[in-house]
Amino acid sequence: MTACALQLAAECGFELAGVSELHLPPEEINSYVAWLERLEYGSMDYLPRGLELRLDPRKLLEGALAVLSVGLLYRPREQHPQAPDQALYSRYAWGRDYHKVMKGKLKRLSAGLLAVFPEYRGRAFADSAPVFEKLYASQAGLGSKGKNSLLISRTLGSEFFIGEIITSLPLAPTPREDWDPCQSCHACVDACPTGALSGDRTVNAARCLAYLTIESPDPIPQELCPALGSRIFGCDACQGICPWNRRRIFTSEPDFACRLTPQLASLEYLLTMDEEQFLRIFQGSVIRRPGWAGFMRNVLAAAGNSGQPHLLPLIRRFADHANPMLRTQARWAAEHLEDSLAKEADQGDR
Ligand code: SF4
Ligand code: SF4
Repeated sequence: MTACALQLAAECGFELAGVSELHLPPEEINSYVAWLERLEYGSMDYLPRGLELRLDPRKLLEGALAVLSVGLLYRPREQHPQAPDQALYSRYAWGRDYHKVMKGKLKRLSAGLLAVFPEYRGRAFADSAPVFEKLYASQAGLGSKGKNSLLISRTLGSEFFIGEIITSLPLAPTPREDWDPCQSCHACVDACPTGALSGDRTVNAARCLAYLTIESPDPIPQELCPALGSRIFGCDACQGICPWNRRRIFTSEPDFACRLTPQLASLEYLLTMDEEQFLRIFQGSVIRRPGWAGFMRNVLAAAGNSGQPHLLPLIRRFADHANPMLRTQARWAAEHLEDSLAKEADQGDR
């Protein structure tokens, strides 16, 4: 039965698949609870609220017996633009919204399981419910957690999405691989621009640029804005530096092919984008997640870091915006850009 489930997962396009029991080792859960207690989850209050469900997946599916975890590679073949004035989007967001892609494939996998095992019942998730996704995937042998807090697969690295089906089928657990992908490596901890990684395999979300540019509803803390550079959606620093991601294995999923046009890397263009344009251009993309205001907050911060004087008038247009988050961000951006231009002029005079 398990071999058949894994085979079906492969036929649905998942590069990784494995099975774990519902029960997780207490030390893994304790580490998550300790992270919650350190309040390192920023404003993601749904995380502590969802703890009860996480601890007992049978509340998500009565009679659940096992978790079938899957992984789907998204590493694009294309490279980031290299020019410093180009807006950067995290690589996982270049194609179609992964929630939609994963949901479609998991639905197909569920249908396949039902066709073979009429007694099958299951609920599929991909970053869409309070489930210990990484822990289950790790237990099922998909990978092991690195110091960047991500699951690292020996074959794929860390640039893959995780999904799972909590099922009533009595699938047998696949072996967990007990290995440390990091050993003496510290590269991601050193490369993190905001010090969000401490090396204990957790991330302090309140300092993480991925959280601050996507999930947070607030202005980016001033002391962290310069570290943002030209990133406007997420951050790839701790994955980009990881030796496990040097493999030249790329996604074959057409939905993950880059949809971003060169125009969308222009801060000048982005500063003029209104909400209607934002929703239209990013239709079907995860880049919609922070909403127009959250996205413009990121663009303003990146424009403040850009050193480009011609962006100043565009930034100043937001200084009296009705949205207080945009006002705060625009004022920081204008001041930071003016300061850096003044310093540059000073140096030129010497
Ligand atoms: S960069 Fe090094 S320390 Fe960080 S996750 Fe990769 S292997 Fe581990
Ligand atoms: S995503 Fe960026 S900011 Fe967040 S932990 Fe990784 S390197 Fe640090």
